[in-house]
Amino acid sequence: MKLVLLGGPGAGKGTQAAKMREYYGVPHISTGEMLREAKAKGTELGKKAAEYIDFGRLLPDDIILGIINEKLRMPGLERGFLFDGFPRTLVQAESFDKMLKEQNWSLDAVVSIDVPDEVVTERLLKRAEIEGRADDNRSTIEKRLKYYYELTDPLKDFYTKKGILKPVNGLGNVEEVFERIKKVLK
Ligand code: AMP
Repeated sequence: MKLVLLGGPGAGKGTQAAKMREYYGVPHISTGEMLREAKAKGTELGKKAAEYIDFGRLLPDDIILGIINEKLRMPGLERGFLFDGFPRTLVQAESFDKMLKEQNWSLDAVVSIDVPDEVVTERLLKRAEIEGRADDNRSTIEKRLKYYYELTDPLKDFYTKKGILKPVNGLGNVEEVFERIKKVLK
């Protein structure tokens, strides 16, 4: 299965992606994780990424698209994949479409995990305490939500028009949400 997981900050994308990777046996590609790794290693990309991540802003599309273009050459992807945190803008989604077409691939489904803002803010502040992610503080969370609605939320329309959007209620515990995902992907 070729899948994309869509959702605002704190919607539970990372958690559900880990479960989906195991259940569906597809590689999980998270741009956020890749960028955090690069940042931790102090690579050129990581230094650049820090300028955006730490302020809740999205990296420029061309940087992200360059990374994805390379990732798509990974062996085995023809059997399926799960992108998490990408695409995040219409430009990214349109370019992704073109890249997939070049390989004669297409997405089977885009799962969107929907959670109300209040719940998200609370979850992210809790995660900040546990994981100590640099971008989980109140002002950054607010920015990430703002950019999510401005730039990423319109992707729901984009994929609805293509007939592949699968909205999932993200409220409840991890297992409940995962059951809903399995159901919409049946
Ligand atoms: P995430 O773990 O998906 O919440 O991503 C953490 C941060 O990495 C985001 O707030 C952005 O700064 C950056 N990032 C991750 N994926 C993308 C993307 N597709 N486009 C632009 N920036 C991204």
